[in-house]
Amino acid sequence: MDNNTNRNTPAQLRLTCATCGGHFRIITPTKLGNYALFCPHCKARIKLRMTPKTKNDVLVKPRLVEPVLGEPLKVKDKVYVIRRRAIVFRPYKAICPDCGSDIALLPKQAGKLLTAKCKNCQSMILYKAVENPDNNIPPGSVI
Ligand SMILES: [Zn+2]
Ligand SMILES: [Zn+2]
Repeated sequence: MDNNTNRNTPAQLRLTCATCGGHFRIITPTKLGNYALFCPHCKARIKLRMTPKTKNDVLVKPRLVEPVLGEPLKVKDKVYVIRRRAIVFRPYKAICPDCGSDIALLPKQAGKLLTAKCKNCQSMILYKAVENPDNNIPPGSVI
């Protein structure tokens, strides 16, 4: 046997972009969890969830559903603040600066410092909300 047949090249994973249908390859992540990617064809932001079942030609979907509230600014390790104010009872999300996962933000109270945690890596996002200027939501409604 030739020694050069030792496979030192990392395994690759072939992905299919759900937005544009394009195919591309990445180095197969060795750890399970969420990964933030860009489609090289259409530049869509993509979230790849690596599980033991992830295999070639997995369809990767774009990550944007809710509006991104704003850019998280670092306060200290694993703690970030978003300066832009949310509007109460409107769903937003933040993109975790540490792992690229979506962090759901649902502000339920105005004027208070609110926190949300990344489910993937436990980074913390701090933000504040203001009252809905439309004032459509009756006080005390549970969402
Ligand atoms: Zn694409
Ligand atoms: Zn994270």
